Amino acid sequence: MYDIPFNKPYFTGIEPHYIEQAIASGWISGDGAFTKKCHALLESWLGVPKALLTTSCTHALEMAALLVDVQPGDEVIVPSFTFVSTVNAFALRGAKIVFADIRPDTLNLDEVQLESLITPRTKAIVPVHYAGVGCEMTRILELAQPRGVAVIEDNAHGLLGKYKGQYLGTFGCLATQSFHETKNFTCGEGGALLINDPNYIESAEIIREKGTNRSRFFRGQVDKYTWVGLGSSYLPSEVLAAFLYAQLEAHQQIQTKRHTLWERYAEYLPAWAEAQGARLPIVPEHCEQPYHMFYLLLPSLSARTHFINTLKAQSILSVFHYLPLNASPMGQTFGAKLGDCPVTEDISDRLVRLPFYNDLQENEQLRVIDAIQRIQL
Ligand SMILES: *Cc1c(COP(=O)(O)O)cnc(C)c1O
Repeated sequence: MYDIPFNKPYFTGIEPHYIEQAIASGWISGDGAFTKKCHALLESWLGVPKALLTTSCTHALEMAALLVDVQPGDEVIVPSFTFVSTVNAFALRGAKIVFADIRPDTLNLDEVQLESLITPRTKAIVPVHYAGVGCEMTRILELAQPRGVAVIEDNAHGLLGKYKGQYLGTFGCLATQSFHETKNFTCGEGGALLINDPNYIESAEIIREKGTNRSRFFRGQVDKYTWVGLGSSYLPSEVLAAFLYAQLEAHQQIQTKRHTLWERYAEYLPAWAEAQGARLPIVPEHCEQPYHMFYLLLPSLSARTHFINTLKAQSILSVFHYLPLNASPMGQTFGAKLGDCPVTEDISDRLVRLPFYNDLQENEQLRVIDAIQRIQL
């Protein structure tokens, strides 16, 4: 293994106590006390009408695709530079995936190109706030709303980030969060669906509970529960919710650590980057980022290979990120091909992510920085 890995799961130390409490309560299936506490925290932080924990962000996206009723042949616009789950959720419902290229500065869906991709068949647009830096939501909503197109934010990177002073995850009718081990707050595998349009709340509860109205039954609103619609099992167990609650409660401490780490890279690396033709992340003035990752854009693919290998030789792991989905074998089944998203294709070859985790110590980070500063690209 590496002396300095790319990611290391973080424990606040409180997780085992909360898990013991969940066990002692005699309720370890879903939607018990800890799940409710997590819902309440997310709802109060963000001011969203409803948050529902899910077993992953992937599953929250699948719920979103069911909720906006994506039908075979409907078109869904996604950035080509994203994780496969952003796309799979809609492809699973038979949607035709339309890939948008990204902006070269924030690496977010290019809202200027968006209008030309919208057709009468467009059902949804799925902006991904890359590295937790907000997409141009004003323009995206301006294009989507008058046409009745749903906006679903994949906010896996962006919990607690803001765009023009408003929390990410509160712009679309729906938004999704991830609590995977690599995200700021984690329970190993987990996620959440944020519901901003209250019309979706009841259907979301049904979809999440195997197509039944069991949530209403638990609240005493109906005396039996039954099968009322399509659904699956998207709720995590109380054991996971207990773990997650410890992390969410510690959000200030976690965000302070991540802020410090991000600023340290940003403080030490600009002179080296300028001399080597590399660049640091761009965070526009109107965006507040939640310090999810730190990346560098290097001048070429060969420079990146050299960079990653040089760090590896010193037992430091840096990693690239998404491959262009338009050029992937699945992407091609939607008629996309290499060359369709030139910015994504270029960035995908040149981007490298640096070790970034809550417990990365100052001396370790300085070792990473020192190793980088010695690299000649
Ligand atoms: C991590 C991630 C996901 C998937 O999250 P899971 O919780 O692992 O399903 C989806 N989209 C983006 C942009 C991600 O980074």
